[in-house]
Amino acid sequence: MEDSYLHKGLRKKLVEEIRRKGIQNQDVLEAINCVPRHLFMDSSFVHFAYKDQAFPIAARQTISQPYTVAFQTELLDIQKGDKVLEVGTGSGYQAAVLLEMGAKVFTIERHKVLNRGAQTLLPQIGYRPRFFYGDGFEGLPTYAPFNKVIVTAGAPEIPEKLIDQLVIGGKMVIPVGETSSQCMLLIEKTSEKEYKTSEHGAFVFVPMLKGKE
Ligand code: SAH
Repeated sequence: MEDSYLHKGLRKKLVEEIRRKGIQNQDVLEAINCVPRHLFMDSSFVHFAYKDQAFPIAARQTISQPYTVAFQTELLDIQKGDKVLEVGTGSGYQAAVLLEMGAKVFTIERHKVLNRGAQTLLPQIGYRPRFFYGDGFEGLPTYAPFNKVIVTAGAPEIPEKLIDQLVIGGKMVIPVGETSSQCMLLIEKTSEKEYKTSEHGAFVFVPMLKGKE
């Protein structure tokens, strides 16, 4: 579980690259600078950890591209103490970035191996979200409402149940669309029954699927 000067140096370069690509929020850049991304990937792939690329993890899933993680986090406008629901724990990297920003994180994953893997790794490196094994389309009604919801898989449509679990004034960031490409949506809940939606460009995510594996 080493985080060497080499890793730290590569991370600084990655942060500069993401800044050049348009991420401005200093707290987001600082969080990316703090989280040792190489520890979330198989140790034979450390050389890929600080490239701005998505990378395969277990169960045919991916750890998102760092720019995408930063982009979604910036759009969510995370404030210290925000209660955040993440759909798609995957490697746990995005959850660690949210925790670095001072959020309380509740993260759901539908693949048991990924849920277990993240649940083992994260506490070892000092990150303590609450982990749930289940179907993110259902959200976590018992723990709602949330200030923010982040979906890290491509959804076929906006899951209304997740909007129900937001506070009024709360925000959700979710890529929605076909499996080949999705549009990043920011949804702001304006009243018990209403919300407004804005579009923030095209991205490619692994699909959000129903049920558990
Ligand atoms: N946030 C992750 C990205 C993982 S990729 C990271 O930082 O590494 C998206 C993840 O969403 C995959 O692990 C996939 O299994 C998961 N996923 C897809 N559909 C889901 C659902 N309905 N509920 C929970 N997780 C889901």
